[in-house]
Parts: sequence; C-alpha cells; structure tokens
Amino acid sequence: MKNTTALKNWLTKFGNETPFLIAGPCSAETEEQVLKTAHQLKNTKAKVLRAGIWKPRTRPGNFEGVGALGLSWLQKAKQETGLLTATEVANPVHVDLALKHDVDILWIGARTTVSPFVVQEIAESLKGTDKTILIKNPVNPDLALWLGAVERFYKQDIENLGVIHRGFSSYGASKYRNIPEWQIPIDLQQQFPDLPLILDPSHISGDRKLIFELCQTALDLNYDGFMIETHPEPKKAWSDAAQQITPARLQEITEALTVRKKVSESKDFLEDLATLRLKIDRLDTTLIQALIKRMQVADEIGVLKRKQNVSLLQAERWAEILDKMIKAGNGNGLSEEFILRIFKAIHQESLEHQHKKIQE
Ligand code: PEP
Ligand code: MN
Repeated sequence: MKNTTALKNWLTKFGNETPFLIAGPCSAETEEQVLKTAHQLKNTKAKVLRAGIWKPRTRPGNFEGVGALGLSWLQKAKQETGLLTATEVANPVHVDLALKHDVDILWIGARTTVSPFVVQEIAESLKGTDKTILIKNPVNPDLALWLGAVERFYKQDIENLGVIHRGFSSYGASKYRNIPEWQIPIDLQQQFPDLPLILDPSHISGDRKLIFELCQTALDLNYDGFMIETHPEPKKAWSDAAQQITPARLQEITEALTVRKKVSESKDFLEDLATLRLKIDRLDTTLIQALIKRMQVADEIGVLKRKQNVSLLQAERWAEILDKMIKAGNGNGLSEEFILRIFKAIHQESLEHQHKKIQE
C-alpha cells in the first residue's frame, strides 16, 4: 500500500479550517431551492455545497433525483457564491457528467461502497483525477469493504481521498437511523491515519435533534469535518425531511461546538491523564479476567447439559439475565442499547463454548 502521508493536504484547498464543512440539501429539487440554499450558506462556515442529483432509494417510488439538469444549478450556485460543489456519483456516466459540470467533490454513496464491481468501475473512470473523492462507509458494518473501496481508488492514482462516516444499518429498533459503530471509523483511521475523516450526522441520526451531539462526539474523536444536510425549508424537503436543518441552525450548531486541542503539554494534565489511564488499564484487565472465568463456567454448564441431554439455548434464562443486567446498568450511566450489545456478544460466546462441550 502507498504511503499516504500527504493526504490531508487537499483540505487546504478548502480553507483548512477545523471542522471542514460541507452542507446542502439531501436532493437538488429546483434551481431556486439550490440557489437559495447556496446564498444562505454564505452566512455559515460551509465551504462546499452538496446536493444529491441522482438519489439511491432503498425502495422504489420515492423521489429519485432531478438528474443531470441539477448539475447546471450547482454550477450556477458556484458562480454566484464561490462555494465549491459536491455530489454523489454511482456509475461512470454520473462521473462524466459531474466532471463536465466541474463538480469539485464526488462522493461514493453507502449503497455503492458495498459493491466492489461498481466501486472498481467508478475508480477506473476517475483514474489520476485531481478532484477530491469521498467514500462513504458501506451500508453494512464491514470495515474490509470500506477499506477495499479506499484501496481501489488509491490504485487508480487518485490522491485526494477522504472518507465519510454515515452510520450502519441494523435490524431492530434504535434511536438512530443508522447506528454509528464508532469503532469502525476509528479502526479505519488507524490504518489510514492521514485520510480525512468526515462525519455525516444527518444520515446517522435521521433526526435533526441529534445532529449537535453527534458532531461533538466526532470532534472529540478528532474527525476533520462534517457533511450536514441543510435545506431552506427542511420540513418541505422532497427527501430526508426529518434530518435536514436550515442554514441558520447549521451556523448555531457550528458555533456551539467545542473544538479541542489534540494534545496538551501541561504537566498536571499529563500526570492526571496517566493516572486515569492506569485505572482504565486495570479495569480492562479485570473485565477480561471476569470474561475468561465466565466462559470457563459456561464450559462446565456445557458438560452438565451434555450429560443430561438438555438443549443449548434456554430462552427464559437468557431473558432473565438480560432483564437483570439492564436494571443493574440502567440508571448507573449505562444505556440499554449498550447493555444489550455487550450481553448479546457475551451470550453468543458463551453459547459457542457450551456448544463445543455438548459435542465432545
Ligand atoms: C445522501 O448523502 O444523500 C445519501 C443518499 O447518503 P447515503 O449514501 O449515506 O445513504
Ligand atoms: Mn439524504
């Protein structure tokens, strides 16, 4: 793999401010709406106007975008306001049209990143480009698929790359439209430390009320920027109405965010941090030891069940454990969602241990 040290350089082309801000409607709807958004965004920190021209909808029958016509509206908005432009491309024809309309940032949507064939085709159609290409995470929580897409673009000598974290789909209820799974972008960042990381709080939340808190979390995790869906009249948007905000609200949010220093040289700070990190390390050791012991007990249960020819899964017992743990953790700072995820993982591992013993 290539040395990616210089990658964050492309951010300078967009002003190099933290956070780097892309904003604009989910979809370009009319020329008037695109121009109005762009002019209102002049009063915000946004450097780039986004708008979906071709909309990938999960189910047919929803608004599927205005098509190439909208690209000339983006071009006009750029001429009138000086904002740079961004849109989603999902095939080489889109790429060709976007390049002809001088779009500055082309992004790969979450439903495209899942397909290595399509990603390869798009990457080849952009070979050697000096445009900025942003790759959204795939819909499903699969780090390798996301990394693979990044690698396909590098291999076509495309240097101005970045990634957008837009959350992952999950089955079942959640407060988010797409759960953040922060660990996945953090893992990606470890493999490509110089790849700019941008948060899309709009598609993670599906709800404009959650945008601020998601942005603050991302800043605390050293994200480089945001892509936020912004519309002059969010409630009337033709797509994703519940998650869009007005340019005025965007300005309020960015002003209220705290950008923290990445490091501090203060001696007291470093000492306090070292003490707390030691505590965390000890607790992590305690946690792993408790898990090891728990699995040893699961092994014993497996042996017992084999002797009695009893089935592996005891649904009532599992419901009882979950209920007890949710009660214990809830109210003490642990969210129900977190407890469920931890205990589902523990239960899964425990069943695997018992299963091995039952088969012996
Ligand atoms: C979008 O940005 O409007 C969009 C369709 O996003 P995603 O690919 O993340 O669903
Ligand atoms: Mn959208």
